[in-house]
Amino acid sequence: MSDIESPARRFSLFFLAIIFITLVLSIAAFFQAFDAYNIGQVANGHFFMLIGVSGLALLTYMVFQTRRRALRFVLKPPRIATTILCQKCGFKNIRDFERGDFIFKDTEECPKCKEKMMIASIYREVEEKKRPRRWI
Ligand SMILES: [Zn+2]
Repeated sequence: MSDIESPARRFSLFFLAIIFITLVLSIAAFFQAFDAYNIGQVANGHFFMLIGVSGLALLTYMVFQTRRRALRFVLKPPRIATTILCQKCGFKNIRDFERGDFIFKDTEECPKCKEKMMIASIYREVEEKKRPRRWI
């Protein structure tokens, strides 16, 4: 697992640095803008304000990109599920894949009609579980 997670961590650290620099520059631009407005240079104020807003927009974009990419790296491999079907009454049960499972293998008794149930399918579960919100 560690060899899967490490690229994501290095990736995040690199972007953390860029995001920090962009944030500092944006804040500096806002201060420059307020200074310019204070001394009556409205055109200069607008210019620095534009830089600050662009910086923040870029920052937001990068944070979202990083989160998307980092999540893709960190995602666990999909779970493998085994579907067990009762041929007689149609009772269906889904459980985790176990070593030795194969399609058409006879398994446990049906809880409804006590007939032997059979493995009908084995597949990867593609649904992604909701993770707690985490920035970067
Ligand atoms: Zn049954």
